[in-house]
Amino acid sequence: MTEKEIFNLLRPNIQKFEPYSTARDDFKGSLGVFLDANESPYQNGWNRYPDPRQKSLKTKISEIKGIPAQQIFIGNGSDEAIDLLFRLFCRPGTDNAIAIDPSYGMYSVASQTNDIELRKVALGSDFSLPTEEILKRADVNTKLLFLCSPNNPTGNAFELEEITDIVTRFNGIVVLDEAYVDFSDRGSMLPSLNEHGNLVILQTCSKARGMASLRVGLAFASEMIIRYLNAVKYPYNISGSTQKTALEILSRNIDSQVMEIKEEREALMLRLKEYRSIQHVYHSDANFVLVRVDNADRMYDHLVKDGIIVRNRSTMTGCRNCLRITVGLKSENEKLIQSIERYEASHIC
Ligand SMILES: *Cc1c(COP(=O)(O)O)cnc(C)c1O
Repeated sequence: MTEKEIFNLLRPNIQKFEPYSTARDDFKGSLGVFLDANESPYQNGWNRYPDPRQKSLKTKISEIKGIPAQQIFIGNGSDEAIDLLFRLFCRPGTDNAIAIDPSYGMYSVASQTNDIELRKVALGSDFSLPTEEILKRADVNTKLLFLCSPNNPTGNAFELEEITDIVTRFNGIVVLDEAYVDFSDRGSMLPSLNEHGNLVILQTCSKARGMASLRVGLAFASEMIIRYLNAVKYPYNISGSTQKTALEILSRNIDSQVMEIKEEREALMLRLKEYRSIQHVYHSDANFVLVRVDNADRMYDHLVKDGIIVRNRSTMTGCRNCLRITVGLKSENEKLIQSIERYEASHIC
């Protein structure tokens, strides 16, 4: 899609929007007499407003991801980018969005708070991507399409060719959530970002990067879309403390941790398949495993009594009696297995 076509998808109020600029935008140095922002002049390390453009953090992310800083948006978690995309593109009460089902719950929450109809399209058997059904649900008011790969809670990643096919054929913005991409062998769409003006890729520092508590979500898109995301965000959406800490943690290499999680995932999947109470262990490209059990509520309660918390996904589409289990440390996964042993002993034999 061309820039003009993308521009036409924006809400009319956004097309006319004039971003707010901070006074300090005019000053480049770091030594100065700052009497512009009504801050306290007493130094305590945090008395100045943080960089609203997160320049150093974006430079670091740009190095890691190979994407120019002007194509990176940093949000207070991925949730901020999801909400802002609704606010940029969808007219409340009029426009709609499409999402695969089951998938991440925030697409639905953000659509509801913005008064946007969310059309959910069920995944096929084995949680495959229902391309034709998805495209059939779109009409002239469909502005956003949410795909998640690897998908939460199913764990599977879609083929890049399938995703590309949808991005090429959909006449709106495709939001591809790659929160778990570090754990997948299928790879990211990031290298082909510039081939698609209508593609927004979400990643996060919350999972493989180990910064869930800091709240750093990333969106990658064309310079134009990123300009609009930056224009509508709260100016100081990422605190100074977060920017500093994230920069520091991003300098650490996570390759060995990711490799260990992937190895543990495969080992855990093999172990889980041995139990009669576990009827199916779904393929996973993420740092969690979805399993279908004999009775999800009963096994969930049993695990809680042993101090092990997993996620009961039973009520989601196509997930009856399914539990989502995060891959932990070897010792934690071992505790899970031992608890399932006890479950089998008490409920089956
Ligand atoms: C965990 C997760 C995120 C991350 O959300 P943050 O707000 O960045 O912590 C995003 N998308 C999906 C599908 C997730 O499972």
